[in-house]
Amino acid sequence: MKTTLSVKFNDLSRIHNPIKKQFLEEVGNILDSGGFITGKNVVEFENQFANYCNSKFALGTGNGYDALKIAIRACELPANAEIIVPAHTFIATWYAVSNCGYKIIPIDADPITYNISVKAIENAITPNAKAIIPVHLYGQSCQMDKIMDIAKKYNLYVIEDNAQAQGATYAGKITGSFGHINATSFYPGKNLGAGGDAGAVVTSDENIFKRAKMLRNYGSLKKYEHQILGENSRMDEIQAALLKLKLTQLTTWNTERQQIASYYNEKLNGISGLILPKLALEATSVYHLYVVRTNKRNELQHFLAENGIETIIHYPIPPHLQKAYAYLGYKKGDFPNTESISETCLTLPIFPKITNEELEYVVEKVKEFFRSN
Ligand SMILES: *Cc1c(COP(=O)(O)O)cnc(C)c1O
Repeated sequence: MKTTLSVKFNDLSRIHNPIKKQFLEEVGNILDSGGFITGKNVVEFENQFANYCNSKFALGTGNGYDALKIAIRACELPANAEIIVPAHTFIATWYAVSNCGYKIIPIDADPITYNISVKAIENAITPNAKAIIPVHLYGQSCQMDKIMDIAKKYNLYVIEDNAQAQGATYAGKITGSFGHINATSFYPGKNLGAGGDAGAVVTSDENIFKRAKMLRNYGSLKKYEHQILGENSRMDEIQAALLKLKLTQLTTWNTERQQIASYYNEKLNGISGLILPKLALEATSVYHLYVVRTNKRNELQHFLAENGIETIIHYPIPPHLQKAYAYLGYKKGDFPNTESISETCLTLPIFPKITNEELEYVVEKVKEFFRSN
């Protein structure tokens, strides 16, 4: 008999329903207050998020991509600076570097963790290298001890892209607190998501903080006085009100994601032809995504879809092979680990409040696929 269960890739209504009433009240208060941008809620959220990241300052921005650009620009790099980035990442990391006018130095992925290969970084460093952007992809911290050592040795700014890993740790230290300035995204589907676009930069360096604050608001700290060419990328009160409510539950939700990952790890272990996620020593993951790999990726995705299970590929085309980057002249084969991940990866449903029944069904269907393939 055919089961009719369907499993969404993510269902945000399950975490939003319990806080809906409180949030709508907050929205009413905001309408009554007449303050809509970088007001009381934003300042409170910034303080709470800085605290969460064990850092001195946080600044709400319009989105994660802007946060990356503001973080890069706050470092005041020379015009010919090169910035080291992972080849395997969401394209926003690359765009932030390119659109700030700097040169991208991509580093291939580690074949085990899928984060930037720490072994490959030093070979790519030239005298123009001025910064590195480690991306804690899928929720797993990069190997930050090695990255910080290299950064110190070559005098590089470190800018963490923490969009996917709010709450992860390396050797007990929280991601988003290692770099000189760090960026994150509150895109709705992220571990901590807003009800629209939002992001933040986080730093413990007061000078960098001041510069980022100017960059976020037309290069201005005092109304109508503009010291540098800035952007307009501020957080609004409604997003901050929702983020404040959700931040109090982030640790609980991250723990749930880790429990789901443990369940998948246990139940899917030992299937020949299926590679499960692996963590580097001392790294933790908050499992923004649970990414498996198989040479039969497309067939598996198709089979799961036929059985009502939504999956997504993160990411089907690496940045260096995107049309937008054709001008850099990269070709297939330049970053083999990254390309191989793109060709074989598949993300299974993982989100807080997914039910045991749904998880059992996903596991059952994955197993069923590999029994006959
Ligand atoms: C989501 C994401 C971003 C960009 O965030 P937006 O808020 O969508 O602009 C940047 N880097 C990574 C790794 C992301 O996953």
